[in-house]
Amino acid sequence: MKKVIKIVLFSLLGLIATAYLFLLFSYNGYKPAEVQHEIVPEALDYFNKTYEDCRSAFIEKANLLVSQYEEVDVFNIPVLSEIDPDLTIDFCYIPAQNISDNLLILSSGVHGIEGFTSSAVQLMVMEEILSPNRLENVGILLIHGVNPYGFKHLRRVTENNIDMNRNCAIDEDLFNIKNEGYAKLFDMLNPKGEANHHSLKNRHMHLVAIRKILAESMPVLRQAVLQGQYEYSGGLFFGGKKLEQQIVDITPILQEKITPYARILTIDLHTGYGENGAMHLFPNPIKDLGKKANMEEFFAGYSIDWGNRGGFYTFMGSFADYIGSLAPGKTYFPMVFEFGTLDSQKTFGSIRSLQNLILENQGFHHGYKNEKTEAKIKENFLEAFFPSNKAWRSKVITDSKKIIKLVFERF
Ligand SMILES: [Zn+2]
Repeated sequence: MKKVIKIVLFSLLGLIATAYLFLLFSYNGYKPAEVQHEIVPEALDYFNKTYEDCRSAFIEKANLLVSQYEEVDVFNIPVLSEIDPDLTIDFCYIPAQNISDNLLILSSGVHGIEGFTSSAVQLMVMEEILSPNRLENVGILLIHGVNPYGFKHLRRVTENNIDMNRNCAIDEDLFNIKNEGYAKLFDMLNPKGEANHHSLKNRHMHLVAIRKILAESMPVLRQAVLQGQYEYSGGLFFGGKKLEQQIVDITPILQEKITPYARILTIDLHTGYGENGAMHLFPNPIKDLGKKANMEEFFAGYSIDWGNRGGFYTFMGSFADYIGSLAPGKTYFPMVFEFGTLDSQKTFGSIRSLQNLILENQGFHHGYKNEKTEAKIKENFLEAFFPSNKAWRSKVITDSKKIIKLVFERF
């Protein structure tokens, strides 16, 4: 009998050890599924490596449009910084050339580091999509680098550690929201001490997360983490205590450009969330069912992730919704395109994606263990929002070209 118990015990221990090792290697060797797409060299040319290069390419292309269309307005506003005197938000506005029916607002870099990809999409639109025919009754406002600090210094947030897509308050009450779910997860999300992705705790991040998932469920956790918080200024997903100055400064410009038009569509460009290489249509949920139906009809042929489906989440303070608040009485569609990178719809993908954010934020506030660690954490962070993979980049351009052409047709 004793022998049987011994065998059972050893088998059990063996199983647990195997499962432990399997999870450890699976998580630490995690990679999203490969992107299946041909490499398009011309598409790759739209991608630039620095904020300055992205901005110069944008301005150069915008200036070429001045001679092609009537009343093109190319301008910028400075974004003041304690450390950087050369940050601007750049604009290119081309009014509808005949009838002011519709306005398309295409914005990049609300999350700074995501600006590289969205800047490439903007360049593609300026180069390949705009035409006299398409601009007959559609105006376009391109906004480059809404968060230039994050764009240039490779952070998702502003200089004040603010997530701009949680900051754009339509109502000041936003800043009084208490996210209780976040408070419970605070220590996991905001560890102290020098950042080190090799630490025992970070190697076992999947186990820490699985424990939380078992206790709370994935949708509850996802929502608590990603909806934003307004209490911890150094913490992840901090939405601020008041509007960021650049939102205050950009407001009259938006109001002025919006005024002549009856229908406005904003497409705010993002990366990092969702299936690797997929373009997700990911607006915030809309309460007005008629408006929701109109948006679904406008984007017919594409599936819209309304934030309440598996793998997605809702939040307030978004830039696209904010623009809508400046257009009362007009038909307004707030749309977000999210180009996925890490398969964050999968459990390990979402843990990895969160871990990248945690480590970068920790390193920024508490320093890194050493230079090598710093370089690796920053490299992972950049890859998560701006993949170097050529198939990925090609697909972003192919997908966005197709849908933005459709937008002009449907207007
Ligand atoms: Zn984003």
